[in-house]
Amino acid sequence: MFDIKMSLISILAVLTVVVLVGLLLDYLRLLKRPARLGLWLAILGIIAGCVFTLNAVLPGNRFYGPTFSEVKTSQKIVALTFDDGPYPPYTGRVLDILREEGVPATFFVIGKNAEKHPELVRRIIAEGHQVGNHTYNHLDLLKADRATIADEVDRTNKVIAAITGSPAKVVRPPHGFRDAVVLEVMAERGMKVVEWSVLSRDWTNPGVETIAQRTLDKVKSGAVILLHDGDGIAAGSPRDQTVAATRLIIRELKARGYNFVTVDEILKTEE
Ligand SMILES: [Zn+2]
Repeated sequence: MFDIKMSLISILAVLTVVVLVGLLLDYLRLLKRPARLGLWLAILGIIAGCVFTLNAVLPGNRFYGPTFSEVKTSQKIVALTFDDGPYPPYTGRVLDILREEGVPATFFVIGKNAEKHPELVRRIIAEGHQVGNHTYNHLDLLKADRATIADEVDRTNKVIAAITGSPAKVVRPPHGFRDAVVLEVMAERGMKVVEWSVLSRDWTNPGVETIAQRTLDKVKSGAVILLHDGDGIAAGSPRDQTVAATRLIIRELKARGYNFVTVDEILKTEE
């Protein structure tokens, strides 16, 4: 049967043809009366391309299917999430702070990094945190074919299961990028796709205060906060700023009366 799940790249390819045909019709002065239909076809094609692309890259929408960026709840709870680890020494320092503060978090680990540092993945689980899947090579899944997407997720879950005894139930695509094919691959595996609602761009190392302030300004009940204990698979950038900001964020949110939960727990509270 005809598969209606098209990747974003296929959709954009079709729309590019539509735009070119529209412009050609207009240029050849065909379909010009009563309105310039060719030109309008081209304009609509460009608008559609923008809509399809923005919904694939922005976190807070369900255009392509179910994803979670926050939950609607009256409870004062938030979920801290850390991406791109495990990455010594920063993952360990984040874990130290979480232990001192007595709060749980969720770590979306890269398979390749987890393979290199299994002891950190074991520690994450041993200390009551959750592990999520962040693909094996931190690929932009919008540029990958279905088999590669599946391999990226399965390979990472194999690594996680070998270390912790069970695979991850939640996945965060690198950069949050997803389309219909990405979401179908995740759904086939029964995995929930988790984005975020609070972003501080901590990976650019803008300063401890800035990371904390940008985060605190946006937090509300049911928020999913994105931070980075790692740096992709290249692993060149330091994460001292995120580590220091994590402590500030936790202390201020506690003062405001928030409780911290894992992603699994926050998903259960949706009202
Ligand atoms: Zn990432």
